[in-house]
Amino acid sequence: QAAGWNIPFIREMAEITQHMWKNGWDERNGGNVSYLLEEEEVARYIDVNQVIRRIKPAFSVHELAGKYVIVTASGKYFKNVLADPESNLGLLRVSNDGEELEVLWGLKNGANPTSELPTHFMSHIERLKVDPNHRVVMHNHATNVLAMTFIHELDEVKFTKTLWQMCTECVVVFPDGVGIIPWMVPGSNEIGRKTAEKMKEVHAVIWPQHGIFGTGTTIDEAFGLIETIEKAAQVYMLVAGHEIQQRITDEQLTTLAQAFGVTPRAGILNP
Ligand code: 13P
Ligand code: ZN
Repeated sequence: QAAGWNIPFIREMAEITQHMWKNGWDERNGGNVSYLLEEEEVARYIDVNQVIRRIKPAFSVHELAGKYVIVTASGKYFKNVLADPESNLGLLRVSNDGEELEVLWGLKNGANPTSELPTHFMSHIERLKVDPNHRVVMHNHATNVLAMTFIHELDEVKFTKTLWQMCTECVVVFPDGVGIIPWMVPGSNEIGRKTAEKMKEVHAVIWPQHGIFGTGTTIDEAFGLIETIEKAAQVYMLVAGHEIQQRITDEQLTTLAQAFGVTPRAGILNP
């Protein structure tokens, strides 16, 4: 049994990364996950007074001071997390002054947290402002979402509407729609700021020709959101180029929203 397998949140991270890899969304080191944890749940398994190493992040994170987070390591393969969580994951605490990351477990042999840490942290900050139960930020290279960004207009209102029209339950799963930012160099503070800006309004943000960021209160919720968006994008990729004979109408989408008690983002459906 791999080290850490008895610890629920480590097991969850190992299982979900394996799952995403099997879906073909995380080639090589593609994708990253971060999961906020409560001190009590960490302290049950790990000595929170023993800091193994300190890491200086590319930005200070006062808003998350004292918070615990488990993240995937940079350059590591999702394929391998299950067999060796300690080398491929890291448990961090943001120092009280927000200037350092205190490694409490994992990141073995000098591994570093994901290069997308700015986007993860900035997105956590924004999602927490709108949802105190928010905990998870998940990034991967969901194949059909990525493909769709080549052939669909990158207008987030039109993109959202197309996704809603592809599967009957989409509008219920993501009534807030998806955000889209322009193509940018990944791993930077700048892409983190742009993504997090969108996260004020939406749970998911698409990076053109790259992939998707999904958020949620649990690993399941963030994963389920990405799964649903990816499914809609897959249907779109299957039917695009064919003559579409019928699609889910605005009226049907409105009826669905009423039946399931969700409010679709304004400005997408015709009244
Ligand atoms: P990391 O290996 O640094 O997490 O980067 C993977 C990735 O998908 C970058 O966008
Ligand atoms: Zn990526």
